[in-house]
Amino acid sequence: MKLYLSELLTRLVSRQNKIADLDAESRFLQYTVISCAGLAAMIGFGLYNLFQGQYLLVLAIASSALGLVIGWIFLFRGLAGAMIYRANVVLFYVLLFYVTYLGGEDHSKILWVNISPLITFFLLGRSEGLVWISAMWLCLFVYFFNPFELSGGHVYSPGYAVRFLVSFTVISVITYFYENFRHKYRADMEEKNSRLLAEIQERQKVESSLRESEARYRAIYLHAAEGILLINFQGDIVECNPQILAMLGYRQPDVVGRNIFTFFHPEDLIRLPPQIEKLRSGEVLFIERRLRTASGIYLLFEQSGKKISEDLIILLYRDITERKIAELALERANQALDRLAHFDGLTQIANRRRFDHALSTEWLRMKREGKDIGLILADIDYFKQFNDIYGHQAGDDCLRSVASTLASLVHRPADMVARYGGEEFVILLPDTDLEGCRQIAEKMRLKVEQSRIPHRGSTAHSVVTMSFGVAVISPGDTQDGYEVLVGAADKALYQAKEGGRNRIV
Ligand code: GH3
Ligand code: MG
Ligand code: MG
Repeated sequence: MKLYLSELLTRLVSRQNKIADLDAESRFLQYTVISCAGLAAMIGFGLYNLFQGQYLLVLAIASSALGLVIGWIFLFRGLAGAMIYRANVVLFYVLLFYVTYLGGEDHSKILWVNISPLITFFLLGRSEGLVWISAMWLCLFVYFFNPFELSGGHVYSPGYAVRFLVSFTVISVITYFYENFRHKYRADMEEKNSRLLAEIQERQKVESSLRESEARYRAIYLHAAEGILLINFQGDIVECNPQILAMLGYRQPDVVGRNIFTFFHPEDLIRLPPQIEKLRSGEVLFIERRLRTASGIYLLFEQSGKKISEDLIILLYRDITERKIAELALERANQALDRLAHFDGLTQIANRRRFDHALSTEWLRMKREGKDIGLILADIDYFKQFNDIYGHQAGDDCLRSVASTLASLVHRPADMVARYGGEEFVILLPDTDLEGCRQIAEKMRLKVEQSRIPHRGSTAHSVVTMSFGVAVISPGDTQDGYEVLVGAADKALYQAKEGGRNRIV
């Protein structure tokens, strides 16, 4: 039973719905203060009247007091705010009107005159309070001066009535302005608070988006395919991502704090100053860079660098060692292909294809410049017999030897010795007159003979010899193509063969 009662009490005094509205909360506090003050006054006033035998007044006071208490409990529990205030104001007005009706010019009425406007404005706010106060003022006015000549009630002297109404008015006006000021002050504070709240929320939003973007950049930094280093302008490594460690095989403490120059290839160090200057000026530096790995070998990286603050540079590294190896292999393959396309596989001098190309360009060049172009066709004598006697392998060796002998005797950049086919060679001599060509052919003939490659099958000599057909033409003097030059040299070669070989025609 005792427990049940205490539970009931707890439930009664525990506030269920906390009033969210600040204005309503402050009204509730005012109501509490007024209730306490009002109840004390009512108890005193009620008891006094009880002994005086004014039972109707006691009833009015008691109902007002009860109204206050019930209203307070309702408000305390967050129920029916505005209605409670209105009901209490009505009860108060009834009391005020009743004590006025009862009459007597004692001072107790002053209490109600003072309290009524306070209750009205504090509980119902400025606008609604103004309506209630005006209505009450009119009712009192009508009661005091009785223009409709109603019967009953107490008759007051006009002096008292005026004093009463004036003090009612003055207190109403003061309370109104106080309430007005309080309201404005509160509205001001609330606005400031809400601005502050909005600012705080905005800042929180900015902070969280900052955190998010930081996390994003961190993720890029950690998961990028490239190795990333942050260094200062002295080259000290400030930060590194896991990829660069994996690429180079180091642990983080081996890298962070160390100078990046110690990872560079010594040969690359002399190129550093201009690179650092470029970075300092804010330009992007894009170079290939050799970096030392933990195992001591150097890998090749594509490095892009950029200044990101006054003392920080970001360096991105992509391992291109394998790509570079593949590129080199491709380059070599291309070079081999190029050799295959333009050089003779056996003798390693220019082939027919390269010669044709050179002849057509030189022909046009000499035509433009109005100069001569010379051509020598050279053919080994009795080479078929050489092969028959010494075998094909020896024949090949002989061709190689002859080719290098011929090649060693031309020096100008535009000159060319090419294998024309089989054991036939062609020597292109731009800007060379007939005498010059003849001299070169003679040198060649002599040098081949002096090579003293034995040739038992030759009727011209005991060693390998060659016959030469020389032709010179000025391309500007003819309408024909370069075939005419080749034809002439061929004809001359034929004559040299006919004339006994080992000679020049
Ligand atoms: P001539 O004095 O009239 O020039 O007589 P020749 O035997 O030199 O001329 P011919 O054109 O009758 O024979 C050319 C020979 O050259 C045929 C072939 O046996 C030989 N020959 C052509 N190309 C090669 C080659 O690449 N290697 C070798 N070993 N022999 C070759
Ligand atoms: Mg031949
Ligand atoms: Mg021959």
